[in-house]
Amino acid sequence: MSVGFEVLARDGAARRGRLRTAHGEIDTPVFMPVGTAGTVKAMTPEGVAATGARIVLGNTYHLMLRPGAERIGALGGLHLFMNWPHAILTDSGGFQVMSLAARRTIAEAGVTFRSHLDGSLHELTPERSIAIQHLLGADITMALDECTPYPAPREAVESSMELSMRWAERSRRAFRERPGQGIFGILQGGVHSDLRLRSAERVTGIGFDGYAVGGLAIGEGQETTFAVLDATVPALPEDRPRYLMGVGKPADLVGAVMRGIDMFDCVLPTRSGRTAQALTRRGVVNLRNARHADDPAPLDPECACPACVGYSRAYLHHLSRAGEILGSMLLTAHNLQYYADLMAAMRSAIEAGSLSSFAAGFESAA
Ligand SMILES: [Zn+2]
Repeated sequence: MSVGFEVLARDGAARRGRLRTAHGEIDTPVFMPVGTAGTVKAMTPEGVAATGARIVLGNTYHLMLRPGAERIGALGGLHLFMNWPHAILTDSGGFQVMSLAARRTIAEAGVTFRSHLDGSLHELTPERSIAIQHLLGADITMALDECTPYPAPREAVESSMELSMRWAERSRRAFRERPGQGIFGILQGGVHSDLRLRSAERVTGIGFDGYAVGGLAIGEGQETTFAVLDATVPALPEDRPRYLMGVGKPADLVGAVMRGIDMFDCVLPTRSGRTAQALTRRGVVNLRNARHADDPAPLDPECACPACVGYSRAYLHHLSRAGEILGSMLLTAHNLQYYADLMAAMRSAIEAGSLSSFAAGFESAA
């Protein structure tokens, strides 16, 4: 038995479900905080868990370069290394090779590149990516794909997608089955519905434990993202989890859940927390703004996070102006709590059959 998934309730295309992994159960729809280099930046693992999160993302690219996958494996795997007892999804490294590495060369075998840290030469093949994620001990492993740049000519999108499909087959073959641990395939095809459908057919034909929609949220805009989902999601199996990679803003999450997506990850809440941006149900609050300097009120009186319970806007403003580490810590905790609360509210709305009215209320409050 690999990763289990059960749909508990439906509301339109949206699903309320539960994932079962070797490191516990996860209620979906779920947002997964990003733990890039074996840490969710500015958070302790206890703080991450206190938001309600039961799964985080680890980045293969960063961890393979530093401290090294073999080292983490020898130290007992990523869960033990980073003191996170709950589930971990690792990405394949493909996206960050494309966005961070220097002098990369893509060939049929895989991608060779130089580290952005020290210029050392590395090769990432589907087999190596899967082996690294095995060493890390991922509950959910991702197939290696090529994230096609946007915009790109249709022929380039098509041949890139076809390469990703061949890599998906090799990734699936390289994956070793273990109880509670599974592998997800990734759809590519840019913004072209026919290519997306061909990709869906190929990936579901190979057969994975879950399906990710990749290559979106890279500049195409929300309307286009949603159009791709409208065309693609119905082609995915009902009984498997669906993961929209790298998305997104709160409104993106609401729209994608309504279109049948179950899982998300994005650096937005953590990155914003380190730049004094607080995400709230009334939009983004910039704590650096002088209007907060004398405000004794909490950031959000309805939020139960440490930042909102214990501190004033004036203090959070002071911390951000003074460049204090605690400012990043508190606002990251708040932003992750906001995302966790948003997902929990959507799960309740799906159970109650009221997701449409929740979404309408969400839009008018923003
Ligand atoms: Zn808060």
